[in-house]
Amino acid sequence: MRLVLLGPPGAGKGTQAAILSKELGVPHISTGDLFRANIGNDTELGREAKSYMDVGELVPTDVTARMVEDRLGEDDAKDGFLLDGFPRTVEQAEILTRLLDSKGVKLDGVLNFKVSEDTVVERMLARGREDDTEATIKNRLKVYREETAPLIDHYEGSLITIEAEGTVEEISERALDELRRRA
Ligand code: ADP
Repeated sequence: MRLVLLGPPGAGKGTQAAILSKELGVPHISTGDLFRANIGNDTELGREAKSYMDVGELVPTDVTARMVEDRLGEDDAKDGFLLDGFPRTVEQAEILTRLLDSKGVKLDGVLNFKVSEDTVVERMLARGREDDTEATIKNRLKVYREETAPLIDHYEGSLITIEAEGTVEEISERALDELRRRA
């Protein structure tokens, strides 16, 4: 199963991805987590990414795409993956399509987590990650609306929309039901 997870920051993609990854037996690949691991290890990539993440801007596409390509090239991602946080722009989606084409594989679907802005702000403030300050959240939502939301139309034919209000269990059940229905 090769899936992309789409949705605004704070939609709970990471939480759901961890559950779905276990259920589906495919790795959860989160660009945010990969950047944070690099920041933790104080790598050059981490230092560059941090300067963008701290203000809620996107990390430049060339470095992000190279990191994703490397990760998708690892053995465990050969037969499937849950991609969380990439693509975040139409340009990144086109890069992903070319990359998968070159491997002769296709996405099985794009899970779109639908949730109100009030809910995501509430969830991010409760989570309190380093980039979850009010100013940064505001900018990340703006970047989402302008750059990432257009992916909903871009992926129209592959879109699997999941209502992402409710409890973690409710949402993961909805997602798994949708995936089973299509299997
Ligand atoms: P959230 O979705 O809650 O904002 P993430 O962990 O997915 O959290 O992303 C955190 C930050 O990492 C983003 O605000 C952005 O700066 C950077 N980032 C993650 N994925 C990408 C991407 N595909 N392209 C550019 N920047 C990214």
